[in-house]
Formats: sequence, C-alpha cells, structure tokens
Amino acid sequence: MHLETNFPLAGSNTLALHATAKVFVRPSSDAQISQALDWARAEGLAVLPLGEGSNIVLAGDLDLSVLQLATQGRELLKQSEQDVLLRVQAGENWHQLVQWTLQQGYYGLENLALIPGTVGAAPIQNIGAYGIELERFVSAVHGIDLVSTERFSLSAKECCFSYRDSIFKQALRDKVLITAVDLRLSRQASVELSYPALQAALQERGLCEPTPLEIFSAVVALRRSKLPDPAIEANAGSFFKNPQLDASQFLRLQQQFPQMPSYPLLDGGAKVPAAWLIEHCGWKGKKSEGVGVHPGHALVLVNYSAKDGQCILNLAADIVQSVEQRFGIRLEIEPRVYGAETGSP
Ligand code: FAD
Ligand code: NAP
Repeated sequence: MHLETNFPLAGSNTLALHATAKVFVRPSSDAQISQALDWARAEGLAVLPLGEGSNIVLAGDLDLSVLQLATQGRELLKQSEQDVLLRVQAGENWHQLVQWTLQQGYYGLENLALIPGTVGAAPIQNIGAYGIELERFVSAVHGIDLVSTERFSLSAKECCFSYRDSIFKQALRDKVLITAVDLRLSRQASVELSYPALQAALQERGLCEPTPLEIFSAVVALRRSKLPDPAIEANAGSFFKNPQLDASQFLRLQQQFPQMPSYPLLDGGAKVPAAWLIEHCGWKGKKSEGVGVHPGHALVLVNYSAKDGQCILNLAADIVQSVEQRFGIRLEIEPRVYGAETGSP
C-alpha cells in the first residue's frame, strides 16, 4: 500500500479547494484498511475518511491521515421473489451502483440517480432527492471504530437516520470508517412519484405510468438541466439544508411572507426551501472573492477561482446573516468543514 505525504487535495474535492493532507492513502482491501489504520495509530495521526469529496469544504491543510476507500464489490446476500439484499463496498461510486441495480432488475434507487459520491458516504447524511431518502433501503451499515479499530454493524434503526442526518453526523461524527452498506431493494417495480418536479418532468415526456428506468432517465435529465456540473463549475451541491420550522415559527413567517413556499411536516411544522430565502435576500448570481451564488440555483455556492476554502465560508456566513436578519431563520451548512484553524476536523 502506497502512502503519500503532503498530498494536494484540490483534485479530491468537488469545490476544487486547495489544501494538503499530511498523509493520503487509498486502501483497496480490508487488509490494506487495517494496515493504514495501524500505521496512523502508530504515528499518532487522526484518520479522516474521504469519499469523492462532494460534500466537504476544505478550509485549510489537514494534519491528518486521509483515507480514501477504493474498495469495490457488490454481493447478493439473499433473494426472494419480492426483494434482494445486497452488500456494497464503501468505495463503490453511488451513481454506478444505481445504474447497475436497475440493470439487474433491483428497484428503488432510481430517484437517487446522479448523486455524486461513494456508497460509504451515502449513509452519513442519509442522501436524498426527489422524494426518497437512502434510509428506506438500508438494512445495515458496517464499519470500523477509528479509535478502538473494532468492527461494528448498525441496523438502520441504530443509524438514527433523519432529514440529511444520521448518527454518523452526531454521536459517531468523525469516529468511524464505513466499510460496506447492506441495501434491501425490491424485485417488483414500485415507483415513488410524490415529488412535483419529477411528476411534471415525466408528464412532459408523456409518461403516466413510468417504469423505474424511465424515472432514472428523467431524474438524470432534470439534474443535468438544473444543477451545475462540478467538473465545470466547482461546487458541493446544496450548500445549506432546507430549514424545518416548528408550527408557531412557521405560522408567524407565513403571515409575514404569504408567498413563501413550504412543505408540511408531520409535527405541524413545515420545511421551507432555503433557495427561496437566499434568493429573496438578493444573493442569486452574486460573486465576490472568486466565489459566488449560482445564477440558476441559489442553494449552490460556486468556486470560480478561489483556492482558499475560507472564501466560500465567508460567503456562506454573509448569506446566513442576511437570511437571519430578514426571516429570523438560521440556515445550517450541509457540507462538512475540515481544516479550519486547527487543521483538524
Ligand atoms: P465526501 O464529500 O468525500 O465526504 C462527506 C463526509 O462523509 C465527510 O465527513 C467524510 O469524512 C465522510 N465519509 C466519506 N466516506 C466515508 C466512509 N467510508 N466512512 C465514514 N465517513 C465517510 N446529496 C444529497 O443528499 N442529495 C443530492 O441530491 C445531492 N446532490 C448533489 C449534487 C452535486 C452537484 C454535489 C456536488 C453534491 C450533491 N450532494 C447531494 C452531496 C453529496 O453528493 C453527498 O453527500 C454524497 O453522499 C457525498 O459523497 P462523497 O463520497 O463525495 O463524500
Ligand atoms: P426543487 O425541485 O427546485 O425544490 C426545491 C426544494 O423544495 C427542494 O430542496 C425540496 O426539498 C423541496 N421540495 C420540493 N417539492 C417538495 C415536496 N413535494 N415535498 C417536500 N419538499 C419538497 O429542488 P432541486 O434543487 O431541483 O433539487 C431536486 C432534488 O434533488 C431535491 O430533493 C434536492 O434535495 C436534491 N438535491 C440535493 C442536493 C444536495 O446537495 N443535498 C443537491 C441537488 C439536489 P428536499 O431537498 O428536502 O427534497
């Protein structure tokens, strides 16, 4: 296994931010993972698991051993007439997995097409899009405790999944390496069409009873038409989570801003699109210090030419402040920030 030192990470994060990792290693087997963890432990270096870097902000150099899993594998653990249970290794690319499952006749992941990143990172924020979240399919998450190096398996319930959140962003934040995810997928096509933008796109294609493959194609086309490609305009997808307001907070705002879009939550509150709040504070298309708010999508911050992640964090802080002043809502950043000040997560 090859260890690199002072490794430049600009090509390993979709915001193309410049930072170095004290050590960088790409293990492609269980044995190599153990070797990398033992080595970091002996050197007294903390380990940071990295996928494709599509949900991180690098705000400085990392005095860490960055471990980017290159493990591959899709194993059929069980099958019945109704469903299949798959074990997928963490280093697999998410979108390629979605494509492959559909080719096999395993359904469910079609709404989650074209989300960048790895399988190992998918449970971290319970990836979601077009009315579906990963948690619907997770049977278990397998990993290694980065401190004790003990192996563990968590059931979906134990992962405490919620909206763009899980135990891996809370109690187990930066404490584990996810090595594989077990997914239960259906062998019967049962489609999720609750998301209005997806419904509209399917109707435009004249599809009243779409197949999972047709949904996959529609999601891919929708995403390509709406979202900037990080390879061309460096970005980390949605930079802020959509705020979830409790009932009283929501009613107060709705009276003040009756035109504000919202989606009801089960507890009587509502989710409000952060993009609408940002746009109504005048940020859409604004640029400064080589970074800016995408002109077509106010939730996406773009790195046009900055090297320093602090520029993007400064812009984010200004946006948070102005949204809070105007609407009284404090936006939360979705990507994980590393390397700020201390050089550690
Ligand atoms: P990274 O960015 O490399 O890492 C993210 C976090 O996970 C870090 O904290 C890292 O330490 C941790 N991590 C990574 N791998 C492991 C592992 N094996 N074990 C433990 N921890 C690990 N997200 C959505 O939910 N829905 C979307 O529709 C969506 N669309 C996007 C569109 C664009 C254009 C972009 C750029 C991003 C989008 N995202 C979306 C965000 C991102 O794609 C997901 O969060 C994805 O799961 C991140 O995967 P990654 O491999 O790039 O993770
Ligand atoms: P959109 O369709 O323009 O809608 C804007 C926001 O409204 C979305 O964020 C979505 O919340 C919410 N929304 C719309 N219809 C809804 C409904 N019926 N019920 C509940 N919430 C609803 O969004 P978009 O930006 O083009 O993105 C499309 C999908 O891809 C969304 O699900 C979005 O989350 C996902 N996406 C995520 C990222 C990321 O980095 N996290 C990046 C790009 C796209 P939700 O976000 O909760 O779905």
